[in-house]
Amino acid sequence: MDYRTAMSRKFDVIVIGGGHAGVEAAAASARLGANTALVTHKFSTIGEMSCNPAIGGLGKGHLVREIDALDGLMGRVADRAGIQFRLLNRSKGPAVRGPRAQADRKLYRAAMQEEIRGQNNLSVVEAAVCGFVLEQNRVVGVTTEAGEKLMAGAVVLTTGTFLAGLIHIGEKKIPAGRVGEPPAHGISQQLRSAGLQLGRLKTGTPARLDGRSINWSVLEEQKGDEAPVPFSTLTDSITTPQVSCYITQTTARTHQLIANNIHRSPLYSGQIEGTGPRYCPSIEDKIHRFKDKSSHQIFLEPEGLDDDTVYPNGISTSLPEDVQEQFIRTIPGLENVAILRPGYAIEYDFVDPRELTSGLEVKALPGLFLAGQINGTTGYEEAAAQGLIAGLNAARKVGGQAEISFDRAEGYLGVMVDDLVLRGVTEPYRMFTSRAEYRLSLRADNADQRLTPRGISLGLVGAHRQKHFAQRMSVLNAARVLAQNLGMTSAAAAKLGLKVNQDGQRRSALDLMAMPEVGLELVCEIWPEIAALPDFAKDGLFADSLYAEYSARQSADILALRKEDQVSLPHDTDYMALPSLSIEIRQKLMRVRPGTLGQASRIEGMTPAALACLLGHIKRQSLRRSA
Ligand code: FAD
Repeated sequence: MDYRTAMSRKFDVIVIGGGHAGVEAAAASARLGANTALVTHKFSTIGEMSCNPAIGGLGKGHLVREIDALDGLMGRVADRAGIQFRLLNRSKGPAVRGPRAQADRKLYRAAMQEEIRGQNNLSVVEAAVCGFVLEQNRVVGVTTEAGEKLMAGAVVLTTGTFLAGLIHIGEKKIPAGRVGEPPAHGISQQLRSAGLQLGRLKTGTPARLDGRSINWSVLEEQKGDEAPVPFSTLTDSITTPQVSCYITQTTARTHQLIANNIHRSPLYSGQIEGTGPRYCPSIEDKIHRFKDKSSHQIFLEPEGLDDDTVYPNGISTSLPEDVQEQFIRTIPGLENVAILRPGYAIEYDFVDPRELTSGLEVKALPGLFLAGQINGTTGYEEAAAQGLIAGLNAARKVGGQAEISFDRAEGYLGVMVDDLVLRGVTEPYRMFTSRAEYRLSLRADNADQRLTPRGISLGLVGAHRQKHFAQRMSVLNAARVLAQNLGMTSAAAAKLGLKVNQDGQRRSALDLMAMPEVGLELVCEIWPEIAALPDFAKDGLFADSLYAEYSARQSADILALRKEDQVSLPHDTDYMALPSLSIEIRQKLMRVRPGTLGQASRIEGMTPAALACLLGHIKRQSLRRSA
């Protein structure tokens, strides 16, 4: 067998599912020293990309950098598998730039499987889990379909779209976790029996095309970046060969064909109950909702270097196969295309994430942690970031340590978990930079500065990264000193032709690079010692200089946030007994049971008056307790 055999049937932590959440959970738990088992259907599908072969993007790329900063796997695996790197939003400010890479599916799987094989304290067990072993309402193990019991101090559930998964292709319905793989039954029922709220969501994927039958000559080429920027700070350079993507678009005929057949889409026939991702709609959804748009862009993305399969990004669909064939052939370049596999939609059970603590533990089932698509999110990166947090906390629980959470000012991973556990989801949750209120300081370029020190103190970060981080920081700190020390008066700047206010003041190189009239390039021309700095240090200096003023203002907001998050709300508070709160707010507080005043303030519909009432209640309670 090409995977590790479980040496013992009792573990500290069991992680169910070898998808994007599961691998990060298992690796994080193992890095903390917990004897961990990753129980998943097949070793060979570890690291499988169920949908688009790409990692990162706007907001998502930030998450990958944060995972990397905490020594997670996704960034360095994507660096090995990436066949087209692009820094999105390059023309905008550094805060909203998103690293993205098209990945070779096979290389991604292989690199992830190698990481899992090489991880100490981690065994892989190939099995299908069908339920939990409970002891006094605490989860202490799992049962497999083969009838085996595996015991553990904590369990992390990361089953993605597999819980009661149902594929739809036109009128056809196929029970499946994803194409060709059986769904998971039993787990949902056990979670419901424990009183958890479950719902149905839906996502979809497009048909896969045979690249040999595409007329590439009529299509617009999209090249990757000339100098690919890796995700991981541990990757020096990208050595995998790079390829181009191509762009095409739907036509009036495509729209007409889809409109004529919309009644055959399970989305519109009433066959699908679950809500789909608003920001990643199917092509029938786009045509139905945006009737005035005459065309939608499609990116033709290669699935691998030695693979002719092409992923047509932008036309996910659940229309019947015959309609898919017809409408795809109305698209320029695809007139004679061979379809390798039809697109489909999938419905699956998810757990209302308000059932969870900020450390992703199920409040009603201590010892059970949930991460990934099961919590109502969509996307590999969202899943991976949650996996890391759940794995960290599962291992800490076994070690008798307190729960860890990340706040909204620390990272996008903190923003995401805070949104999920306090607000729940009404549609698949996807990360965007607009979800973060402190996005000028939560940049992709400074993820390591924000998170690696915390990761080190938590024991999540290995020796290699610790050393590497220390070296990077010393280069960056020296660069900051250099850029502060170098400078010139306004008169000297004018002599060089720089448009600087003639106020007689000295301006440092750092000040000058932040000025739109000067910028980093000119500063590098003036001072070769700045030009000679490594790229990461130059980019870091530039971003710091650009946002220095805003960062100071944000610091005050962050202090206020943290102050409110320090005021605890007792877990047993009976909010229904607070008549000055509206019934709606009382019900929401009972549902979410926020741990702090800050969390209460972020529940949807919370008002300043309601918060003042809560604060008054806490003060009265603590006075009563101390009396
Ligand atoms: P997964 O990656 O699905 O991993 C689940 C793992 O659990 C698998 O390894 C499985 O074998 C294992 N498993 C399941 N049940 C059991 C069990 N009972 N016992 C043992 N092992 C088990 N994301 C986007 O961002 N955009 C999209 O457009 C998009 N479209 C999608 C379309 C489809 C058809 C699908 C299936 C997914 C799509 N996704 C999309 C979602 C993306 O694939 C997921 O967000 C991501 O894979 C979730 O990661 P995860 O770790 O939660 O679950």
